Amino acid sequence: MHLTVLGSGTIHPSLERNSASYLLEDGQCKVIMDMGPGSLLGLTRAGVDTKDLHGILITHRHADHCCELAWLLQLERSKGRTEALRIAAPGIFKEYLDFFRTWGRSTPQPDTFPLEFLTMPGHVTWASMEIEGRYVPHVEHSVGYRIRCNGKNLSYTGDTGPGQELIELAKDADLLLSECTLPTGSKSKVHLNPEQVTRLASRAGVKKVMLSHFPPGADTGSAALSCRNSGIETMLAKDGLRIEIS
Ligand SMILES: [Zn+2]
Ligand SMILES: [Zn+2]
Repeated sequence: MHLTVLGSGTIHPSLERNSASYLLEDGQCKVIMDMGPGSLLGLTRAGVDTKDLHGILITHRHADHCCELAWLLQLERSKGRTEALRIAAPGIFKEYLDFFRTWGRSTPQPDTFPLEFLTMPGHVTWASMEIEGRYVPHVEHSVGYRIRCNGKNLSYTGDTGPGQELIELAKDADLLLSECTLPTGSKSKVHLNPEQVTRLASRAGVKKVMLSHFPPGADTGSAALSCRNSGIETMLAKDGLRIEIS
């Protein structure tokens, strides 16, 4: 399974980082995790056509994680897509999907393709990817994801504050893709700092960490150092970065 960072930023516009979005690929199965502003541009830069997307995982309703979902659905309808598209997301997105069909129109735009919606938290298998959504402490109904594919585990926090539930989410992950919005020493109930990510990775037995969701001007070097000093193999997310999860 390969992971491509389409957006490693936050809600703050940045010339270096799109908002949250990641592409997972295993052969022909292509899944996007979150669709913040810039995700479709990132996908285009990665050389992937939206018609080849198998499914979309959304963590929560903040705009920096989902606002290009509306654009993607309108795009696929306008292209006359016929292949099924799958969306796994918190239940509120069912209402959003209905709204997106009428956005900018006097009558709902009909689907040209089967749109399969799955309410998260829950489990689903898409081709070779076994996906589990679990609640994380952020805004109401926020989820993070565990994806198992070819014997490898990826855990993705989306946005989250600290909490016990994260340990199960990250348990024995080959890669923990974690938000790291806050600088060292700063605390919040809805985001993490580098020390909190380090503690989580240690307690969950994570093999490798990728830090992401950086606001403009973030001291990413210090964040990485904080994790590495604890003996955890740590990478920094950067738009366009593509790695194999091994
Ligand atoms: Zn965010
Ligand atoms: Zn958020």
